[in-house]
Amino acid sequence: MKIKTKCQECGGHNLRWQSTVVNNSDVQQGRLRTHEMGVLFFLGCDDCSATVQHATGDQIARHMNDAAPFAEVAEVDARESARYRLLRRGQHWSVIDGKGDVLRGDELDATIDARLAAQAAAKGSGDA
Ligand SMILES: [Zn+2]
Repeated sequence: MKIKTKCQECGGHNLRWQSTVVNNSDVQQGRLRTHEMGVLFFLGCDDCSATVQHATGDQIARHMNDAAPFAEVAEVDARESARYRLLRRGQHWSVIDGKGDVLRGDELDATIDARLAAQAAAKGSGDA
């Protein structure tokens, strides 16, 4: 399920999910049993009140299950990025290249970028 990020009516991005209980049967109000009830999520535009998107509870659950592994990857990436930012400052630890030169900051970034580019080129040519 692709979640919309823009209102089709006004072009706004001020969108918010809401939920409501719905009757999934023809049973009249007051005689309903819980299995005849469901949940409906709808994405509304806070700027113009348009309903931008709606989804059943099952669709939302499937979407969240599909997104869970990506959230975990993003969390690991964020932690590793924070570690690298601390390392590249060169205040607590040193990164020394093959010639014994200390690398930090932009020089460390450039060295790593060059290495990654070389690896990508080797992989692309099938030499990896
Ligand atoms: Zn709108």
